[in-house]
Amino acid sequence: MRPVRLPALAPRPFEDELLSCWHWRVSSHYSCSPRQVENWISGGSVGPNPHLFRHDVSADQPATRLWALACRLRQVDLERLSLQNTGRSGASFVSDPAHRGVCPTCLDEDAEEGRDHYCRRSWACVEAVACPRHKIGLEINCSGCFRSGLFQFRSTPVGVVRLFCRDCDAIVSARRFPRRDQTDLLQVASLVGEAIGKGGSEFERIDAASRFLWSPRPEGMPYIAALGLSLPYGQRPSVAKGAAPLASLPPAWRAVTITTIANLLFQVAPKTVPLSSSVREAFRQFEQGPTEECHQAPPPTRTASVVNLRAETEYRQLARGIIQSEGWKSLPSKAGRARNRAIGKLMLRALNDE
Ligand SMILES: [Zn+2]
Ligand SMILES: [Zn+2]
Repeated sequence: MRPVRLPALAPRPFEDELLSCWHWRVSSHYSCSPRQVENWISGGSVGPNPHLFRHDVSADQPATRLWALACRLRQVDLERLSLQNTGRSGASFVSDPAHRGVCPTCLDEDAEEGRDHYCRRSWACVEAVACPRHKIGLEINCSGCFRSGLFQFRSTPVGVVRLFCRDCDAIVSARRFPRRDQTDLLQVASLVGEAIGKGGSEFERIDAASRFLWSPRPEGMPYIAALGLSLPYGQRPSVAKGAAPLASLPPAWRAVTITTIANLLFQVAPKTVPLSSSVREAFRQFEQGPTEECHQAPPPTRTASVVNLRAETEYRQLARGIIQSEGWKSLPSKAGRARNRAIGKLMLRALNDE
């Protein structure tokens, strides 16, 4: 066996840190990727890259051994950072790292304490939509440019690692504006998290409820979008057929999904989510397994979700119509979400008024 090369500097893992985060923190000190570091320490003997983030759910033992040797750590202390030690099923973690949120206030605290920014293991859980410590929602959008996407670990000139927005190069932080209190959401998340932690049939029911809510109704739209709930802004994410919705959604959509699940399964009913008896009945049937009715529903074909774009001139005309409407003139009296909702209504009305 080739001797392992030893990088000069390797930060110690934090108690509640996620394995892939530690890999990135080590690598960012050398301005390269974990795969490049791995190739260097092994003398180039590492094969083509299996996806590194997969190791979060189940640590790759030979690779972890290599990293541990090179960074003068015990293998067991690295394996501890993977999610397999939580005793939860792999499906109870968000699979796409770009859809795992971060708490910007936790990161600000890291900076204040003079340590690296780091991602907490708990942020990978499907029910992790808010920070229990700071009572704010976990975020995937930059608070400077509002773009989403995976934040990037970079080393600063003073030698500490920070999470940066890839687009505007701002450090991820909560200092730009105050966040909304999410205590209600945290209660729902902890209830759902507790049930997931129990595993077995409890988790299966939550999984079934999430699949139900994201299954297409006959007209193609998933249930979650047809219940009259207050939905996150922006495009509705598409959930691939057969995929576990909770494991593949961004935090804002997971928040509305777990809130509705809590209502459906535990009768915890925040005022904003009234569920009709027909929805409960539809879920009961869904849970009983594939019925004739389900087979009759058309599969989510591409045609159902195709956006019929119109000519540019038509959009311009619609926009002009909106601005000249009475509804538009009454807008300035409203603020924040109410104003956004009113604009949304005007847009919808214009687009549907054929
Ligand atoms: Zn926090
Ligand atoms: Zn940005």
